[in-house]
Amino acid sequence: MKLVFATNNAHKLEEVRKILPSVFQIISLRELGCNEDIEENGTTLEQNSLIKAQYIWDKYHVDCFADDTGLEISALGGAPGVYTARWAGEAHNDAANRQKALTELHGKSNRNARFRTVVTLIRDGKVEQVEGEVRGTIATEERGQGGFGYDPLFIPEGFDKTFAELPADIKNTISHRARAMEQLKNILL
Ligand code: IMP
Repeated sequence: MKLVFATNNAHKLEEVRKILPSVFQIISLRELGCNEDIEENGTTLEQNSLIKAQYIWDKYHVDCFADDTGLEISALGGAPGVYTARWAGEAHNDAANRQKALTELHGKSNRNARFRTVVTLIRDGKVEQVEGEVRGTIATEERGQGGFGYDPLFIPEGFDKTFAELPADIKNTISHRARAMEQLKNILL
């Protein structure tokens, strides 16, 4: 089953190709020949995920899905949420974003947070949305080399290591994206 994943993020592609069974052939935007940066101007994860998937469906008429992820920090009233990628500025700089998280939480004892991913699937023009979340805490310093984005700061519930320290197969079982992919699989199989 061929499915376009509306991303060019190599880390996400690798994760999703590992998480979904091999009956799914996951095609990136670049492989599709789409090199545009799709503007995510929605105000919710649901809207941004839909904007990306709808763009691909409208332009190429291929079955596709898109994801949008937000980090929601309790002590910051759920920020950065939909602004997670551009929290420290439009440059989408992961290191600057992580530094901002550490600065905003400096001295705060409540470091609870969650990652939430919304996935929009468009099959034969029909739109379906699923989501996945993982709860955890924000570490007081960066730890680990694996993963991407905020992974060196995020300690999932039930573990004492960050996503960047844990083996990829553990992240790919319990993460927000893994849980959303599980729902996607249930729709597709
Ligand atoms: P988007 O879903 O590509 O818009 O990602 C939103 C933001 O969340 C970006 O800053 C990503 O780096 C970050 N992000 C998305 N997924 C993960 C993840 O699995 N771990 C850590 N950060 C993530």
